[in-house]
Amino acid sequence: MSWQDIIGQNIQVSILQKAVSSDRLAHAYLFTGPEGTGKESVAFELAKVLNCENHDTSNQTGSCGICRSCREIDTFMHPDIEYVFPVESALLEKNDPSKTENKRTAEARERYESLIETKKRNPFFTPSMDRSMGILTEQVTSLQQKASFMPAENGKKVFILSQPEKLHPSAANKLLKLLEEPPGHILFILVSSRPESVLPTIRSRCQILKFSRIKSSDIENWLQKKYPELQDEVQRLIVNFSRGNLGIASEMIDSFKEGGHETFEGIAARDRAIDYLRKLLSPGKLAEAIAETENLSKSCGKQEIVAFLGSLLLFFQDIHHRIINPAWSSFNNPDLGTSIDRFAKNFPNSDFFAISTITEEAIRAIQRNVNPLLTLSVYSIRLKNLVGRT
Ligand SMILES: [Zn+2]
Repeated sequence: MSWQDIIGQNIQVSILQKAVSSDRLAHAYLFTGPEGTGKESVAFELAKVLNCENHDTSNQTGSCGICRSCREIDTFMHPDIEYVFPVESALLEKNDPSKTENKRTAEARERYESLIETKKRNPFFTPSMDRSMGILTEQVTSLQQKASFMPAENGKKVFILSQPEKLHPSAANKLLKLLEEPPGHILFILVSSRPESVLPTIRSRCQILKFSRIKSSDIENWLQKKYPELQDEVQRLIVNFSRGNLGIASEMIDSFKEGGHETFEGIAARDRAIDYLRKLLSPGKLAEAIAETENLSKSCGKQEIVAFLGSLLLFFQDIHHRIINPAWSSFNNPDLGTSIDRFAKNFPNSDFFAISTITEEAIRAIQRNVNPLLTLSVYSIRLKNLVGRT
């Protein structure tokens, strides 16, 4: 990856390029912006530029991607680049072969490494261990120790902290001390999609760089340039489904390359949503639809429920477009043409404006942690009334 490979963040990239070429980098940055906008990929590219053996500050292309330093950063092996994200405490327990915890630590290490492998494949992925209590004190202590040494190589030490809003309080205090008297040979890059939850004392020590949501047209151009082998229909599905989130887009690309979109969780959530809709609208299947919402609220997390509702929203948009213009074919769900036609034919008088409104309201309610079963039950009743109207 070089600066040219960064998608849709031209202003942010040019601010950093200028800072590098004029030697005016801040000692600490806080990259903010929605999930999947490429904040971490920019952090890693900056780390590479500052350490690349072939980098020339007068050229703006970025890192070479092939020298030893670039390759070490790409494989998370560079001695001067630290990447910290929320981990579970078992990972940090001292390895004493005589103790039974050893197995726990080994298992935690496996889970950690699998996250790093995913990150290598998908630079837009935000890792976090499921049983994590946040970024832990031991992790920041280790940074403190590493900070006291000069870079092993010729470049600059770069500490990248993913999700600083999840710093454990005592870890946050230690980090604050580092940020208050930052050693000149270190660049801190904090990366957060929820900057309002980062401690104000930490935030105020960083220069904030805001990333914008990626435009659909930018994702489209990127797919055409980088993955020309994907059919137009598949590209459109990725553009619409990822809604500006490069992490989701990359996961989808992986699934398509592995042979089918059914493996992609987001598509599975969509198919589940459409199945629910079918039941909700079929006479005599209401109980099954209700049972589905119960399952969903019991077994799924917030993000999955939002994906479920979000995919209904896109599906309704398709039906609406088809009703207004029977020749319409630029669907959000190009693989669901038959179902879209069937819904359009059976429910031509649905109030799509009201349907979008209640679906968006339900999404917001889930995001605000309103009880999911209650939200989905109310949603189902309102939806049935609005769709069933003829
Ligand atoms: Zn290089």
